[in-house]
Amino acid sequence: MTHDAVRELVAACVTALPVRRPLALHEPDLSAEDERNVVDCVRSGWVSTAGLWVDRFEDEIRAVTGARHAVATVNGTAALHAALLAAGVTAGEEVLIPTLTFVATANAVAYCGAVPHLVEAEVGTLGMDAEALDDHLRACAERSSSRTINRRTGRRLRALVVMHTFGHPAEMDALRAVAERWGLALIEDAAESLGSTYKGRHTGTLGALGVLSFNGNKIVTTGGGGAVLTDDDAIADTVRHLCSTARVGRGWHFVHDRVGHNYRMPSINAALGIGQLRRLAHLVAAKQRVARHYAAVFAAVPGVRLFEPNADVSSNCWLNTLILDGELSTCREQVLEALNAQGIRARPAWAPMHTLPMYESAPRMPVATAERLAASIVNLPSSPALDAGR
Ligand SMILES: *Cc1c(COP(=O)(O)O)cnc(C)c1O
Repeated sequence: MTHDAVRELVAACVTALPVRRPLALHEPDLSAEDERNVVDCVRSGWVSTAGLWVDRFEDEIRAVTGARHAVATVNGTAALHAALLAAGVTAGEEVLIPTLTFVATANAVAYCGAVPHLVEAEVGTLGMDAEALDDHLRACAERSSSRTINRRTGRRLRALVVMHTFGHPAEMDALRAVAERWGLALIEDAAESLGSTYKGRHTGTLGALGVLSFNGNKIVTTGGGGAVLTDDDAIADTVRHLCSTARVGRGWHFVHDRVGHNYRMPSINAALGIGQLRRLAHLVAAKQRVARHYAAVFAAVPGVRLFEPNADVSSNCWLNTLILDGELSTCREQVLEALNAQGIRARPAWAPMHTLPMYESAPRMPVATAERLAASIVNLPSSPALDAGR
């Protein structure tokens, strides 16, 4: 019985997708213009962490996101680390993050010497559950005029990092209200959601700081890369300073006034991304058409539903997510195996942070929904090139 359901699901995927195999989970969309820009960068001799290409890349990021400042970094993890430091996170404090996220979100907190405090997910957005989080804080946190303390650990709760899962915006109004009620710095891990908006505003520009990633599997790639977004002039200066080895000086005399990081994006990487950012609206439209195609295909398949974002957001549809339920809810491994045997590189969600050895004893709230989601998600190939209309 179950076996038939798996077969039906796999048959639907096989007919929904082009015959070319293997089909990767997400491939970059690179053009002749991107190639020309990289060649021009090489010929200019300015390939490292200075020069016009990084400035132009940051201008394009500001244009597509509406952020007042964008600081390009070597990768998204470094951008998260710099954002947390700029938000004032220090050793021994706690930072609320989703348990259902990529490990970089948790690691960046640990790099600060701080402790990730793991938050439940909700089915409606696959992001943080604001209501459950608020209830949890009412039970364990105490706010005074200057700070909020976790009474169970005695540590200060400093920041809330919201992540927009698979490109779908989280419930930002409710999460911002929680951050304000508890005096937490609001940071967005928008690594997956370049091109996604929440009530008309670009993800990554809704809190004090936002973070993007330009890793090879993201909607726009610079090989490796990231960026910090902020509207605050002083925070932007701090991020730039922290990411350029905290260098100060004039002429040929340089000193360093704190422990900084070599986190700035090299020009050669920036050059690859400029054209893609200019094409971002087309890439997003192509990915939204791929998502609509999948939604139509799976509407008729029992035991699965394609995750669809709320109507008040616009998602870049970075990854298309099948949620297995009913008799298929216990068949994720069989589904993954059968799809990969057909050359369809379907992948599970991440193992939740509280299941990883370095974070298993991190403070957390009940995370039953995150566990259930993690066990029932199958992500499907979602490259813009799968759009038949292109
Ligand atoms: C990709 C990603 C990052 C950053 O990854 P890098 O590979 O360092 O650019 C951070 N958080 C999430 C949720 C991601 O998907």
